[in-house]
Amino acid sequence: MEELSSEIIDGSFRALAEIALLAAARADGHEADLTAELEALRRHGCLAAPMRPEGSGFAYAYPAARSLPFFVALGSVDLSLGRLFEGHANALQLVALFGRADQKAMVRARVERGALLGVWGADGSPPFAVEPIEGDRLRLTGAKRYASGLGWVSLALVPVTEADGRLQLLLIDVDEPSRLDFSSWNMRGMRASRSGTFRFDGLEIPVSARLGGPDDYRREPFFMGGIWRCAAVQLGAIERIVRGLADGLRETGRLDHPLQSARVGEAILAARDARLQVEAAARAVEGGEEAELAASLAVFARLRVESAGLAVIALAERGLGLSAFAEDHPLARPIRDLSTYLRQANPDAALLDHARRLAARLPEIFG
Ligand SMILES: Cc1cc2nc3c(=O)[nH]c(=O)nc-3n(C[C@H](O)[C@H](O)[C@H](O)COP(=O)(O)OP(=O)(O)OC[C@H]3O[C@@H](n4cnc5c(N)ncnc54)[C@H](O)[C@@H]3O)c2cc1C
Repeated sequence: MEELSSEIIDGSFRALAEIALLAAARADGHEADLTAELEALRRHGCLAAPMRPEGSGFAYAYPAARSLPFFVALGSVDLSLGRLFEGHANALQLVALFGRADQKAMVRARVERGALLGVWGADGSPPFAVEPIEGDRLRLTGAKRYASGLGWVSLALVPVTEADGRLQLLLIDVDEPSRLDFSSWNMRGMRASRSGTFRFDGLEIPVSARLGGPDDYRREPFFMGGIWRCAAVQLGAIERIVRGLADGLRETGRLDHPLQSARVGEAILAARDARLQVEAAARAVEGGEEAELAASLAVFARLRVESAGLAVIALAERGLGLSAFAEDHPLARPIRDLSTYLRQANPDAALLDHARRLAARLPEIFG
């Protein structure tokens, strides 16, 4: 297994300790500001950690055995920050896989100076579109919505659906303040993730902003398979809620009541199931398992994390009662954030599609 340097690992621990204090002290209104937490990630080398320098560019070298614990730990201290870092790692992996040498060199230089990257796929209204114009340039129109890190992400990978239905990635500077629309992110959770709308109308970029070829983005195991990172971040919050449930019941002398013990037991079962699936998915995707199978395992891990998260939230709210609903209760924000962040695209289709695929491969899964 490829190892990260001890410097990067020590930096991760220092960053986490600092972020835990910052996150605990931060108010959770719609103005919530993660600038200090992002600065801690930058200062401790975490933003550059997934890159292994190669010439003037880089390879994505963030082994699951090291990155998974960091995604989980970030999700435990702050889901919004975990979401931003997960998107950053996803973007770096895609640039390493499909970028040209000059694109890798540019991205590495920017990240080493502190840039945060994102992947903004969800189309807004009107949807994002691209029109070729003279001088090897592209004119952009439309919007992306639910784009995490508005104002913090300076460089985004933005897929466009071409006329023939294929997806083309573009690498675009997205730091122009007049294009950011924060008002669309009026959600009850993940407030600090600044996941609003970015408007592209009138922006012109060179054709060379294309990253990879048509449909490279859809190549498995890194397209659907990449969802394991999101699931790992969510797992961190699930485990935090289970700890909070057990601690809360212990503090009030209610843990030994058989029904409360049963709730804690059910919560541990759900969280452990979720962890085992996420770990297996991470190993499959990053460890060279056959691409389509790895992608299906990652999608199923996402679905198990979703059901585990919903179960654990219900158990914690039922077991702790009204006190867990107070704004300043330690579980109030993780529960609000997790219930929002669990809403990922089209879970019904994910189940149906990958159930069919996995049903055809049961001997490989069951051994
Ligand atoms: C905190 C947060 C940050 C995010 N950041 C980003 C980001 O940086 N970049 C990005 O690209 N996206 C981001 N997203 C958006 C994410 O990728 C999804 O697009 C979004 O979460 C989809 O949620 P939804 O509930 O609207 O999904 P939907 O797909 O609308 O699902 C809602 C329900 O409808 C069902 N359903 C879906 N389609 C159909 C249909 N045709 N017929 C019947 N039922 C249907 C689903 O199964 C589900 O039950 C973020 C989301 C969150 C929560």
